[in-house]
Amino acid sequence: MVDIWSREKRSKVMSKIRSKNTKPEILLRKALFAKGHRYRIHNNLLPGKPDIVFPKLKTVIFVHGCFWHYHRDCREGHIPNTNTQFWRNKLSKNVDRDLKHQHALIKLGWKVLVIWECEIEKNITSTLEYIEQQITCCPI
Ligand SMILES: [Zn+2]
Repeated sequence: MVDIWSREKRSKVMSKIRSKNTKPEILLRKALFAKGHRYRIHNNLLPGKPDIVFPKLKTVIFVHGCFWHYHRDCREGHIPNTNTQFWRNKLSKNVDRDLKHQHALIKLGWKVLVIWECEIEKNITSTLEYIEQQITCCPI
């Protein structure tokens, strides 16, 4: 697959992809709220600043953008064809950082859920069901 954009245009486009308050994340927050769940967002004190935090349930949710967090087996999770080495390094660093944060949280006694943006876009109902299952039953 050949990149349709020049290197300059590609990096401009990529820089516009924001990592906080993305559309799927907001969609998920609204859906959780509508179901009566109360949570905090972007807790700066916890490793990795989880996107959604349920303090009483000691559970956090990361809403991962498929590109930036390199979602495998997903259309969005790929290394761009231009500047390949740069992106390979960058994305693998992101993945390492994610794992480090998740392990740190688990060590602190938190339950960590990772939700991918494509899951929310594909089927928010089943994503919600999964989260509710995880936060209501199955203590760690
Ligand atoms: Zn994905």
